Amino acid sequence: MNVFVTGGAGYIGSVCVEELIKAGHQVTVYDNLSEGHRSAVDSRAKFILGHPEKENDLRNAVLSTKPEAILHFAASTLVGESMTDPGKYFHNNVCNGLTLLNAAVEAGVKKFVFSSTCATYGPPDKVPMTEDLPQRPINPYGESKLMFEKMLNWYHQVHKLEFVAFRYFNAAGASEQFGEHHRIETHLIPNILKVPLGQSKQCDIYGTDYPTPDGTCIRDYIHIIDLAQAHMLALAPGKQGFYNLGNGDGYSVRQVIEMCEKVSGTKIPAIEKPRRPGDPPKLVAGADKAIRELGWKPQYPKLQDIVTTAWNWHKQHPNGYSD
Ligand code: UDP
Repeated sequence: MNVFVTGGAGYIGSVCVEELIKAGHQVTVYDNLSEGHRSAVDSRAKFILGHPEKENDLRNAVLSTKPEAILHFAASTLVGESMTDPGKYFHNNVCNGLTLLNAAVEAGVKKFVFSSTCATYGPPDKVPMTEDLPQRPINPYGESKLMFEKMLNWYHQVHKLEFVAFRYFNAAGASEQFGEHHRIETHLIPNILKVPLGQSKQCDIYGTDYPTPDGTCIRDYIHIIDLAQAHMLALAPGKQGFYNLGNGDGYSVRQVIEMCEKVSGTKIPAIEKPRRPGDPPKLVAGADKAIRELGWKPQYPKLQDIVTTAWNWHKQHPNGYSD
């Protein structure tokens, strides 16, 4: 298929582009490199540099590519930042997303695959969380993704645009070639691994008074190659709707630190800090729907494998990508 990928130079997008190319698809990456890295784009993909403030560039890029499918990864994605700069989240994730959605309809795109998030649910009434739970986000990041989900649903009803929206839990791990490098790193696993890499003396635990067994937040970590595989399956005609992507297992911040110690063979001191605003205590996926309806089968469900692939990539790329 001819596939247009926004955010294909970012962490999840880069691995998805790699898997798309392996599967024989023809890929055009559109990325403004505000978060992504040019060297994270598979050399076999066509690359278009986006300009964040020029809406027409995005529309023109879609219309000239004439893609059969769009995979939309590009977004602002940090919970903490969204609590201090909500406007950035609504502008990028909703306004720029709408430009893309209109271009998709104009270009007659057959399938739109959207990176949504478990942050659209807010703190759940029950875990594992299924797709039918009420969505009550507690931060602007989750709210902006929920707004886009709703737009997609209306575009499906009105314009017959077929879509799959994936509600990711915590993307982690790396492929051999591509891994996680944010210019300002806020995510748990890469921050912990800075200690064995010799780049930090300790890691931080944000909150030790949550209503969880060890007092730290629980998340469901999912390997990015498994996320990418779900996107391949979503491209099949007829696949449509909202799907959680996670492993159904939750690990606390302290458990993740222990796993990083085990994998790296290094003692990792941790400093207890106050809670980070906007963080729900426990998010664990029920992903049976994706397994049942898409035929999705995670290959790397174990936290040890996820952390090991991340550690291998960081050892090879201690300073991340060069650009
Ligand atoms: N966290 C932490 N220390 C860090 C980074 C994150 O304790 O240096 C916690 C964070 O508060 C959250 C969990 O780890 O409970 C996962 O955070 P991350 O930013 O990786 O993903 P999020 O769940 O926010 O998407």
